[in-house]
Amino acid sequence: MPDKADLESAKRRMLDRHLSGRGIRSPSVLAAMAKVPRQRFLPEALLDEAYADRALPIECEQTISQPYIVGLMTQALKLTGEESVLEIGTGSGYQTAVLAELAGQVVTIERHAPLSAGAGQLFAELGYENVTLIVGDGTLGHADRAPYDRIIVTATAERYPAALYEQLRTGGILVMPIGRQDKQVLQTVRKTSSGPTTTNLSGCRFVPLIGEQGWPE
Ligand code: SAH
Repeated sequence: MPDKADLESAKRRMLDRHLSGRGIRSPSVLAAMAKVPRQRFLPEALLDEAYADRALPIECEQTISQPYIVGLMTQALKLTGEESVLEIGTGSGYQTAVLAELAGQVVTIERHAPLSAGAGQLFAELGYENVTLIVGDGTLGHADRAPYDRIIVTATAERYPAALYEQLRTGGILVMPIGRQDKQVLQTVRKTSSGPTTTNLSGCRFVPLIGEQGWPE
């Protein structure tokens, strides 16, 4: 079982090698990822791998995203501390915590109630008070709190859900993996007054986005 010092040095390695070393340059993103204890978001049996640069299994047959991908997606959101962010796919809550460090308010939607409950418990323990947890189908977004300055989806669909684009403020940014099971690309979509502008960031591999505007169950 790794002790506190082991975890701190593993975290340092993650920051230097897998984040800074691979192009995550935003000082605020690196500082947020230095602060959030990833080990708290994992099953205890995986503590040894808390800062390895790979996705790991969590409850309900889902995964906690790879640190590099969390860094890349968060950096692409260009957060300055004030934004209202909608996240689809709470999962372990790790990505949510990184967002909570960098944004004003975070609304996060998860379809599996036990995952949402587990993440909520951790946010209370770690003192994140700017997060609202919702259980439901995130492909429909959450119109009550729209428009959002930023939207992040941590599960894959063949196209971004129309409801999410609608709930994005003009000038806002949506980041999401697009594709099929074995061929996915991380995309940034900026909403402009003349329509969406799309940029490809990197190949990736996420679990499917399941819902009305995603894949069938
Ligand atoms: N950001 C998370 C990644 C979790 S994996 C983390 O780092 O831990 C993606 C999550 O999206 C899974 O928990 C899955 O249950 C959830 N998901 C899939 N389709 C969804 C939908 N339509 N609405 C909400 N959550 C969804």
